[in-house]
Amino acid sequence: MVFDSIPSFEEFSATFSSDEECVRHMFKVRFGKNYPCPKCTKAGPWYLNTRRYFGCSRCGTQLNAKSGTVFNHSKSSIVDHFMAIYLSCISTYGVPADVMSTFLGLPKPTAWMISNRVRRHIAGLRQPQRLGGEGQIIEVDETLLRQVRSGPDAERHVTIFGITDGHEYLSFIVPNRKPATLLPIIDKWVRPGSEIHSDGFGTYRLLNLNKYTHKTVNHKAGFTISPDGASTVRIDQFWGRLKRTIYRVCHGVHYAHLESYLKECEQRAFWKKDRLGFLNSAFSQFPVVQT
Ligand SMILES: [Zn+2]
Repeated sequence: MVFDSIPSFEEFSATFSSDEECVRHMFKVRFGKNYPCPKCTKAGPWYLNTRRYFGCSRCGTQLNAKSGTVFNHSKSSIVDHFMAIYLSCISTYGVPADVMSTFLGLPKPTAWMISNRVRRHIAGLRQPQRLGGEGQIIEVDETLLRQVRSGPDAERHVTIFGITDGHEYLSFIVPNRKPATLLPIIDKWVRPGSEIHSDGFGTYRLLNLNKYTHKTVNHKAGFTISPDGASTVRIDQFWGRLKRTIYRVCHGVHYAHLESYLKECEQRAFWKKDRLGFLNSAFSQFPVVQT
């Protein structure tokens, strides 16, 4: 636990007021002061000797507090990154880069790079889990996302497939809505025995009924919740969230970054009722990411 309650802007700035404090925090979270030295195997102590390196007090071996994280190769101040994470976690749909630029007093391209790293940091906070199980309800659906840029003047529509148990959310960029595309994803990410709710789209009629129970919501007949209890309200809410983020907050995204927007949105949806938990999660781990 880093924070007991959601800090005000002033409280947050006082907690992480310098790069040194931020780097010390990262080292503490990732390694701890008694971290065994990889060279001499003695447990610390470690001292901060440059802006990011901690040295073993016995043999001088150096550890980079930022190595492997999204912040590793950034030349920008880590205080700005921490502030951007804070702003991102306390806002419902994230903070657009132009607002971040004004707020942090940075040029737009720098603010954009920081927003990008922060999004990748948030996207990596929790690893996706297989959902459902005996008798548990899973909702599945697909949606078409507009405003996805694929070149300087090119925009494309992208199909996204989603799965939720109302708590965890999984979303995938898919080439189409065919059974050969969607059913293997369901097999991989939904445990056998689950009760799957979907709309009446043809692909879902081919679900493996030896493995799952299937209920359909008939939107055409005006149902949101069918008489048998079938509903896709929760995955629909996730689509609402995703589209508000992409259309209204970001005014479109580039295809190359779409995956990280989806993963960020999954995390936001997971933490939607626990903003303090979200904030603590974002500051109590610095996941190693693929570059
Ligand atoms: Zn050592």
